Amino acid sequence: MITVKKFGGTSVGSAEAFRRSADIIRSGEGNTVVVVSAMSGVTNYLISFLESGESSAAEVIDTMRVKHKEAAEEVMSPGLLKEYLEVLDLRLLSLKELLEDPDVRKDPYFNDNISSQGERLSAVTMAFVLREAGLDSVPLCSEEAGIHAVGCPGAGFADLDLTSRDLSYTLRPLLDNGKVPVITGFYGRNGEGKPMTFGRGGSDYSAAVIAHAIDADFLEIWTDVDGFMTADPRIVDNAKTIEEMNFSEAAELAYFGAKVLHPRTIEPARRKHIPVRVKNSFNPQGKGTIIHHLRAPQDELLRSVALKTDLSIITVNSSEIAYRPKMVGRIIDRIGDANVIVYAISTSLSTVAFLIHNNDVKEVLRNLNTLEGDDIERIDVKSNMCLICAVGDNLLDRCGASAEIFGKVREANANVELISEGASTVSLNFVVSMDKATPVVRALHEGFIG
Ligand code: ADP
Ligand code: ASP
Ligand code: MG
Repeated sequence: MITVKKFGGTSVGSAEAFRRSADIIRSGEGNTVVVVSAMSGVTNYLISFLESGESSAAEVIDTMRVKHKEAAEEVMSPGLLKEYLEVLDLRLLSLKELLEDPDVRKDPYFNDNISSQGERLSAVTMAFVLREAGLDSVPLCSEEAGIHAVGCPGAGFADLDLTSRDLSYTLRPLLDNGKVPVITGFYGRNGEGKPMTFGRGGSDYSAAVIAHAIDADFLEIWTDVDGFMTADPRIVDNAKTIEEMNFSEAAELAYFGAKVLHPRTIEPARRKHIPVRVKNSFNPQGKGTIIHHLRAPQDELLRSVALKTDLSIITVNSSEIAYRPKMVGRIIDRIGDANVIVYAISTSLSTVAFLIHNNDVKEVLRNLNTLEGDDIERIDVKSNMCLICAVGDNLLDRCGASAEIFGKVREANANVELISEGASTVSLNFVVSMDKATPVVRALHEGFIG
């Protein structure tokens, strides 16, 4: 039996967290492949370094060294600590050289390279912590393991076939020899061998890609809450753990904002029918959530509510656009050329409205401007919108379900700006302004989940 266990930032955020996660790994049955995120705070720090350019290379190295050394000192015995610090310093030396090399900065993958450094350091740290716990553990970065990425810098995704081919060479022999590989989450290598990250929170996806590649029996996502919940517990105090979900529900919710899973995590697992468990590393005895193909139907109207913030509605106005289907096609083509995700789309006789991230607005408008002028009368942009995703069993087959849901939205005094309904049988998605998002989520939770 092979289990891939992924530990998020807070689960490797301190000496205590490393130790707790090591206990979870040690107490598991069969072979384990470990995937780690950066220690909590590290990726944010590296990204703000890249964006602000204020810290020097020396400051970055120092911050990284102190954070990892402090954790290691508490967990490792002197002999192992010495060995660990030698490896850490070698890694930090190559990071320093990278940060000081003016040519490397021009590389389009420079940001991906730097922002993934936290995972490279935490993988080494976790492997040494596991050695301290008596396991024969080997750290592997994504390049060594053979996780292949395609796509664009900062928004890559895995080439599942190539990754499966390579991991069978790199991981199988290690597992056959009783070793515990610890692999960096968050990124893969592209065709030129350059690091390409999978977007924020991408370590969940890395773990799913690895589970898919080696035909794992289970994928476990170890995080800081008791599983996949009925809402983000940071927004809804009494959010409850959902014990069982199917792949579609979890995928919809993750895509539409439930941060507990990276949006692309489910697909690789679903393809190989690998059950996914979401568990709390701070409460390993808790049941957590199991996500798999089929589950018993539930009576309640809603099972969970997610929200996706910082979105914009772009409305293209053009007379009788509905009678010019090619025009609609060309608008969609232009958005596709901008390579952005469209979260919802809606049409009328003379408008096409679509929902994209605030950050993508400029690029999309630039592309729409290349459409011939006489076709488009006006483009309106409404920014700072929020998409609410309500998921429930056969939601759309229940007579009056939408009316009940929108009744609660009204109680929260929110105006519905756009609706996307019917595309999926398990979810109802609609847009409200950002300031109404929290009251709406709370009203829906209180009204239908409790
Ligand atoms: P990790 O570092 O372990 O990957 P993340 O911070 O990425 O952890 O994801 C866990 C967080 O996701 C939780 O602390 C919680 O605030 C947030 N979250 C949002 N929606 C949900 C949900 N439906 N269920 C559980 N957690 C959620
Ligand atoms: N460390 C990365 C991030 O903070 C990836 C992850 O945590 O999954 O986005
Ligand atoms: Mg995460």
